[in-house]
Amino acid sequence: MDGGTSAGQNASPLSRLAAPLRAALRFTLDVALPPLCPSCREPLGGGAGLCAACWSKLSLIEPPYCVRLGIPFTYDPGPGLLSMEAIAAPPAYDRARAAVRYDDIARALVTRFKYGDRLDLAPMMGRWMARAGRELIADADALVPVPLHWRRLWARRFNQSAALAKTIGDIAGVPMLTGVLMRMRATPQQVGLSKTERADNVQGAFRVPPECRADVAGRRLVLVDDVLTSGATVDTCARALLRAGAAHVDVLVFARVVAPLRTTI
Ligand SMILES: [Zn+2]
Repeated sequence: MDGGTSAGQNASPLSRLAAPLRAALRFTLDVALPPLCPSCREPLGGGAGLCAACWSKLSLIEPPYCVRLGIPFTYDPGPGLLSMEAIAAPPAYDRARAAVRYDDIARALVTRFKYGDRLDLAPMMGRWMARAGRELIADADALVPVPLHWRRLWARRFNQSAALAKTIGDIAGVPMLTGVLMRMRATPQQVGLSKTERADNVQGAFRVPPECRADVAGRRLVLVDDVLTSGATVDTCARALLRAGAAHVDVLVFARVVAPLRTTI
């Protein structure tokens, strides 16, 4: 009861301290409580990352895959074989690689990372990407994160692709170029759109500002994004970079959508 009186008397200073106190409490809880698996929310036995069950279900993309698009094959067709997608509709970029298939575990990770303020997942996801994209990174002069429109950046507070590119760049010793690619308009979310609608949605949405053309010209670049679905976004980005004089553009993403059955020709 004394505490209630005391709290009432100190209401004003306490309310001024409310935000820092809340932050301190959150920090204390984060330290005191065992870390949770970012996918299933079960407590982790120790350390960070995924729990053993989610880790075992994660679908890492390994060779054999299409040398151009990185789409995994169900059997090894021999070196240099292309997927039907790469032959039927070759993209503007040269090669694409992804760390994992976009399944339930990958979706949970990306959702928490992107919308759940879990910037702390970037080092783990970036490490997997650096491994999956090592050939691309070895050839690269710089990494270019797919930019957000400033309004979306304002709402989300960080660009998830830049956070991933920063981790990969730190691991591989390759610089990250930000600002060389600008998102000219806030395109609607690609979710739920057909392949053609996705391409129309991002058509002309990216540009290299004239003052950045010298940073891009003649350079070998790796575009970095979180998820590749139809590839329309990274294809539009690659076209803008190539128009500005980039020598070569590859794509490295955390997760890519893969149809259940892949065939080769
Ligand atoms: Zn888990």
